[in-house]
Amino acid sequence: MAVIEFDRVGVTYAGADRATLHEVSFALPEGDLCLVIGPTGSGKSTLLGAINGLVPHFTGGTLRGRVLVEGRDTARHRPRDLADVVGFVAQNPMQSFVTDRVEDEVAYGMEQLGLSPTAMRKRVEETLDLMGIAGLRRRPLADLSGGQQQRVAIAAVLAAQPRVVVLDEPTSALDPTAAQDVLAAVTTLVHEVGLTVVLAEHRLER
Ligand code: ADP
Ligand code: MG
Repeated sequence: MAVIEFDRVGVTYAGADRATLHEVSFALPEGDLCLVIGPTGSGKSTLLGAINGLVPHFTGGTLRGRVLVEGRDTARHRPRDLADVVGFVAQNPMQSFVTDRVEDEVAYGMEQLGLSPTAMRKRVEETLDLMGIAGLRRRPLADLSGGQQQRVAIAAVLAAQPRVVVLDEPTSALDPTAAQDVLAAVTTLVHEVGLTVVLAEHRLER
């Protein structure tokens, strides 16, 4: 069964004279890695945002057609109503951090889940290990490299154990080595954890 379904989806932003997305249809099976490619301005972020309802609930604009995520219609579900299914990692992780330290940031994503402190500590450990950043646990987020910050942002989203992770150009601010580390971490999620990943990228060589 498809975990994400777009049925003739259109998005037109307020004041725009043409649609940013027009008649977009696809069905994404669980466990796939889906790459969204295209030059800047082609609508990659718009498509990604439509998956968890950022578009149109936070961006404004008009959504046509239908987006279903695990059967939930995003026209009637806001991003927080979809957070247990879709984790969204924005392009600039520093802007989305809500705490100052690595382990606090990862724990924050779990606090809504009502886990016991012991279960929560265990899951923070596992998630940091999975992303290869266990050694950074107590470091301030501001001191990390771009690649490390990006992996913390992914770990923070994984904490809620979503089935889909959406990443908007996760390597855009990174040098080639850091980019490789982040993409290797993403590959692990798909192959070892069985997550469905949607990733926008404009540098195909990566
Ligand atoms: P990409 O991620 O491929 O660079 P975007 O989805 O960000 O593309 O943008 C596609 C088009 O939609 C651009 O013309 C951009 O200016 C416009 N756009 C994107 N977000 C908004 C918004 N929140 N409000 C109005 N226009 C937007
Ligand atoms: Mg974009």
